[in-house]
Amino acid sequence: GEWSGDAIRRRFLDFYAAHGHKILPSSSLVPDDPTVFLTIAGMLQFKPIFLGKEPRRVPCATTSQKCIRTNDIENVGRTSRHQTFFEMLGNFSFGDYFKKEAITWAWELTTKEFGLPPERLWISVFQDDDEAFSIWHNEVGVPKERIKRLGEDDNFWTSGATGPCGPCSEIYYDFYPERGSSDADLGDDSRFIEFYNLVFMQYNKKDDGSLEPLKQKNIDTGMGLERMARILQKVPNNYEIDLIFPIIEKAASMALVSYTTADDAMKTNLKIIGDHMRAVVYLISDGVIPSNIGRGYVVRRLIRRVVRTGRLIGIRGDGHGNSEGAFLPSLAEVAISLSTEIDPDVESRRKSILGELQREELRFVQTLERGEKLLDELLDEALSNAGNNGGKPCLSGKDVFLLYDTYGFPVEITAEIAGERGVIVDMKGFDMEMENQRKQSQAAHNVVKLSVGNETEIVKNRTPFYAESGGQVGDNGFLYV
Ligand code: ATP
Ligand code: MG
Ligand code: MG
Ligand code: MG
Repeated sequence: GEWSGDAIRRRFLDFYAAHGHKILPSSSLVPDDPTVFLTIAGMLQFKPIFLGKEPRRVPCATTSQKCIRTNDIENVGRTSRHQTFFEMLGNFSFGDYFKKEAITWAWELTTKEFGLPPERLWISVFQDDDEAFSIWHNEVGVPKERIKRLGEDDNFWTSGATGPCGPCSEIYYDFYPERGSSDADLGDDSRFIEFYNLVFMQYNKKDDGSLEPLKQKNIDTGMGLERMARILQKVPNNYEIDLIFPIIEKAASMALVSYTTADDAMKTNLKIIGDHMRAVVYLISDGVIPSNIGRGYVVRRLIRRVVRTGRLIGIRGDGHGNSEGAFLPSLAEVAISLSTEIDPDVESRRKSILGELQREELRFVQTLERGEKLLDELLDEALSNAGNNGGKPCLSGKDVFLLYDTYGFPVEITAEIAGERGVIVDMKGFDMEMENQRKQSQAAHNVVKLSVGNETEIVKNRTPFYAESGGQVGDNGFLYV
């Protein structure tokens, strides 16, 4: 159709350029800021300007920013709207325009340029923000019943534990306007999708949590490119848009299945592969190499997840006739072919990206296969022990943990294979082992904090235990990647 992802990106940037914004390139996924782990939003490259530490070079700018959010790994394929890698389209004012222009331009862009029907659009504002409410209602003309006042969790945006922040206002698209407005809940993601967030950045959050007014009032916005594409391309989820789906189709063909006729579990697996392949290609392109610590561990974990998922759905061989070959490079080729307008540098790094993926995959497959052998032996043992003492055959928490920690062997795979041979696994024991390891490493290692809205994550520089089902959420609510 008319609205390819590339066309949406261009229209957004052109619209704001026509309103005096300078079009700037995306910054790297690795921020130039030691307090931030990975680039999670478009505003990061402008943080020093927002804080008044650097002079602005232009009054306002617009970008399409590559982002990675590891806090959404678990959501991939399970919600219809979260990727780990996505592009955030943004317009930024450095003490230039403020709420009124930000709101009226966002509306004009959404309804006139992208042509979304106004009656399908809902608005959220921060509970105390009467000014934003009034602009939406009185100037733009959105009926009161479609403007919701929400609390801090949803409508007060912070880029981290400290730093520039402020109340925000979001635009949601309604897939089912016929359901009416009486008990509509913007948090209901079967009906609504949030696609554009306007942050009225007017404070600096300090170490003690207090809010210090910034000298200038700024605007920071983010529109999820894939979310807009999904709305305009009329597909049921972000993964089926033109910038992601070709990777999924490639994976499906390599697994000899068809996405359209696949069941939900298969579809989820294919979505995970499509998403994670993009993430690893852009991360490696930006210089993040698989390793056991920090950012490198994010890449390693994403790669392992693709390898494991690919094997689970039956991908064998490299897609070019070598049954022992790595399959990630063939998928990466597709992701790279889609990269031209997202990041023109990726293509030129093709060779090193493919090489890195190939090495990492083959190394992991060896580990996996050693794990499979060990698991077989442990199952033999469990069965014969049970035969001797008349109990139910069971794999101990220690063994499950060993497979997981040393062999990168996902718990649910262990349970599945054990189940096939009539052996249960001691999940309680496993959880205890995990908890022990977590306690041991907690004090010893360096911690990077990052928060996205109300979600805070901590990434530890530590030897990995690799949580296949996603990070482990600790008692403190932090996500351990
Ligand atoms: P959600 O509530 O859906 O998780 P968010 O409130 O965390 O989104 P913001 O921090 O407001 O997202 O980011 C601005 C915009 O970036 C969102 O409105 C959305 O369009 C897009 N976005 C955020 N997270 C993702 C993601 N994981 N995948 C794709 N797009 C995203
Ligand atoms: Mg939100
Ligand atoms: Mg938001
Ligand atoms: Mg979120």
